[in-house]
Amino acid sequence: MGGDRVSEQQRWDLESLYAGGSHSPAFRNFLDDLETNVTSFSMVLQNTPGAMQSPDMGLKAVILTMQDLSKRLREAGAFVSCLTAQNVHDAEAKTLQTRVNRIRSTLKSALALLDERLQQAGESSIQALFDDPELAPLAFTIEERIERSKRRLPAEQERLIARLSADGYIAWGELYDTIVGRMAAEIEMEGRRETVSMGQLSNRMTQAAQRDRDRLFDVWESSWAREADLCADALNHLAGFRLQVYEARGWHSVLEEPLEMNRMSRETLEAMWDAVARNQERLLPYFAAKARLLGVEKLSFVDVDAPLEASAHRRAISYEEARQFIVEQFAAFSPEMAAFADSCFERRWIEAEDRPGKRPGGFCTSFPVHGESRIFVTFSGTPGNVATLAHEIGHAYHQHVMRDLPYLATQYAMNVAETASTFAEAIVSDAAIRAASGDGERLELLNDKLQRAAAMLMNIHARFLFETRFYEERKRGYVPAERLNQLMVGAQQEAYRGSLRRYHPHFWASKLHFYITGTPFYNFPYTFGYLFSSGIHAMAAAEGRTFSRRYVELLRDTGRMRVEDLAQKHIGADLTKPDFWQSAIDFALRDLDVFVQLADKRV
Ligand SMILES: [Zn+2]
Repeated sequence: MGGDRVSEQQRWDLESLYAGGSHSPAFRNFLDDLETNVTSFSMVLQNTPGAMQSPDMGLKAVILTMQDLSKRLREAGAFVSCLTAQNVHDAEAKTLQTRVNRIRSTLKSALALLDERLQQAGESSIQALFDDPELAPLAFTIEERIERSKRRLPAEQERLIARLSADGYIAWGELYDTIVGRMAAEIEMEGRRETVSMGQLSNRMTQAAQRDRDRLFDVWESSWAREADLCADALNHLAGFRLQVYEARGWHSVLEEPLEMNRMSRETLEAMWDAVARNQERLLPYFAAKARLLGVEKLSFVDVDAPLEASAHRRAISYEEARQFIVEQFAAFSPEMAAFADSCFERRWIEAEDRPGKRPGGFCTSFPVHGESRIFVTFSGTPGNVATLAHEIGHAYHQHVMRDLPYLATQYAMNVAETASTFAEAIVSDAAIRAASGDGERLELLNDKLQRAAAMLMNIHARFLFETRFYEERKRGYVPAERLNQLMVGAQQEAYRGSLRRYHPHFWASKLHFYITGTPFYNFPYTFGYLFSSGIHAMAAAEGRTFSRRYVELLRDTGRMRVEDLAQKHIGADLTKPDFWQSAIDFALRDLDVFVQLADKRV
């Protein structure tokens, strides 16, 4: 009876945005207009300067048009990703996706022409842009575009590189996806043989009973070993392409591009990793206690991510309870954030229903034209689901506090993108630990939390160490699979402080992140976001309610400042010095002793 209403409450409302789902006439009109405008914008940029009255006026109009088109493109992309996520079999949605991708690439090539023009503009024309009240709020973005294009080759050469990338650089990343997609492994579980994909095997391995995990880890390693030569080819050529481009641009470090994308300095990165390396030992008592709970002498690489087997048959948390819990916990930090979270449920901005045909995972996406967000999760009543909900609402809150800013001033990088989400998730996870009904549940929740710390401070660090060393060797020539294994184990031993009984040599093959061409060094921004958020949480805990105002101001600046300036301005922290990072790590590990004590009581 109440079932329909309950499930309706858990389905998001897309109708109020564009009625009719993937057949929405309103959305089709929106897309038609966007495509027409992007095409003519691109033509204007190719044909002018004749079409412009004066260079300054022209540039201003171009920038404002670009802002408008980017904003609408984001809206279109958001709607399509909601459609494809809610029903993976929606063929019409996939057609729309292709169309949005096409518009995006047209706009992208138009933007390259804009950069060229910005670069050619004299100093006085640029100054005139900054003096214009409409463009002044975009000064950071404009300046950044100019700086970035100055550090690149002449436009014609960059265009050639972009064209060659499609069948070179990017193609190597795609080849990797093909290799992984056709991989399968034979496993035997409880007397039954089955063939599984690598994604399935990874899940089985983590969730397996302790006695099966080592056996599955063998299958996992040997599966990757069989494809190691192909993966090594993909990785070497992808890296080789990247290094050639960097050399042509006169960039001497492979970190130039990722640091530029994340708007951070090398000093900050080094200060962060130094603090991390100095504190890794502190996780070892947690590993030892977890090993005792799992009944092994020492943890293996895959045991680190394993759940404790203590999980009792806990009652599922209802969606309504999750809502109340999240709102209540946010309220202790900021009534405004709590009210916002409540309105996300009330206005049905969240797709949470547990039903087949949905995409796995969670995300939050913004509709800047409507000034709204939508959240996608699959809620089945676990504490992890509640944490994920809080995480995604954290993203939505970030978008919410920026909603009145010009669109181009709201584009934040990967390293700060996870600040608000991680912070929101931590508020709720910590409260769940305090509210745990018994030691068993508390241990499990603390394990989730410390596991995350180990991932951020050790696993990601190992990836970073591996990747920097690999690139150094790649400069001198091809690095064969055997050598990649050595580099990987060396990096893991260093980051895990030699504490594991078994490492994962083929991790460079099994981890997709090394093959992402859109974002090089898809690792350190994670640790940055995690620790940045933890440092902010430490300050919030010390300062109390008044902190929430400063927090909102910080979030509002995430799209228009470099991270060092952001931290200095809003929390008085110098990211290039160890203090901030140390306090962030201290706060992240503050429950470690409790875990060890509870574990000892249990064994
Ligand atoms: Zn997130």
